[in-house]
Amino acid sequence: MHAFRVGRILTMDAQQPEIRDGGILVCEGRIAAIGPWRDVAGDGQPHDLGPGTLVPGVINAHTHLGLSHLAGRIPRGLGFPCWADRLFSILLQEKGTLQAAESTLRAMRGSGTCFVADVVAGDQSIASRALEAQGMAGLLFQEFAGQGRKGGAYPKAGACPAVRSGSCSAGVHALYSTSAVLAQAVKRWCVARGRPFTLHLAEVPGENELFLSGSGPLSDFLRARRILPKDFSVPQLSAVAFAQELGLLDAGTLAVHCVQVAEPDVEILVRSGASVCLCPRSNEWIGVGRAPAHNLHAAGIPLCLGTDSPASNADMDLWGEVRAARSLIPSISLAGLLAMVTRNPARALGIDRDYGSLEAGKKAVWATLPADLED
Ligand SMILES: [Zn+2]
Repeated sequence: MHAFRVGRILTMDAQQPEIRDGGILVCEGRIAAIGPWRDVAGDGQPHDLGPGTLVPGVINAHTHLGLSHLAGRIPRGLGFPCWADRLFSILLQEKGTLQAAESTLRAMRGSGTCFVADVVAGDQSIASRALEAQGMAGLLFQEFAGQGRKGGAYPKAGACPAVRSGSCSAGVHALYSTSAVLAQAVKRWCVARGRPFTLHLAEVPGENELFLSGSGPLSDFLRARRILPKDFSVPQLSAVAFAQELGLLDAGTLAVHCVQVAEPDVEILVRSGASVCLCPRSNEWIGVGRAPAHNLHAAGIPLCLGTDSPASNADMDLWGEVRAARSLIPSISLAGLLAMVTRNPARALGIDRDYGSLEAGKKAVWATLPADLED
């Protein structure tokens, strides 16, 4: 048993949200007791963590570890088509490396990230080995795109190796790059197993125009590069409405980005129960616009935050995303901000038995709140 003492704890547990002069007793990696120091003291050797504020270990809800070797390779502000072309041309020449993925994870861990939800487009071994080597917990979403086979069961048996302290699931890249049949099959696979499903949704300018009319600059870009699925037919719906029509949105879905969303789309998202992962610094880096984070938050949608990959962000420090979210939602409380990197992603990813708050029984993983975010 180890006893820790700290100036203040923001637990994200509704029973005792804030503890001054806090104490935490830890036994075999889990919290045995948490409360005021005077109540929990008495057992074990005390470790003094100082006067700062402790929060639950933060959860990065959207990364691509396999793109770690692209750090610093694609300049900011190119716009989506040029950014994507640069990405494709580098990926044709160079594959991701274990060393780059480990270096990304090391930086994440150093800034208090305890859990990573990573999207894996091909071979899972880099992400899973990097997590193992860095002693980090994670969930790998095997990503599908392109054409589906009718009646195909996705992913194939054995496609999801177990990941240290986490698990695996599946998702699709985006509705402009994945056939509707395949997207529905992958979603059904997740639902049947009670696992979370993810997709990039309404990220790119022109996505709504593509789904509403079948034309526009994004349509031209995708058709020229044969990215648009062969069986694509114009649904005459917005991106979010199309996802809803296909049965992809429910409480088990983590919709990533949601930049190009109007008020009716917000309504659809609220009713569906889906969680939304915002990646504000990635959106800014690529130049796709800003998510209406204030409206999404005000509507009560469970929001999460992700750094996305080093191909579209200056660093993998999730606190940078928290600061960006605060500037998008200036009226948000500190507890509201923290929920986006603790409680909300823990629920969305199905890991709230272990993560998301500091309370007895959960894993003893925490982060120090950066001083500039103190309220
Ligand atoms: Zn992404």
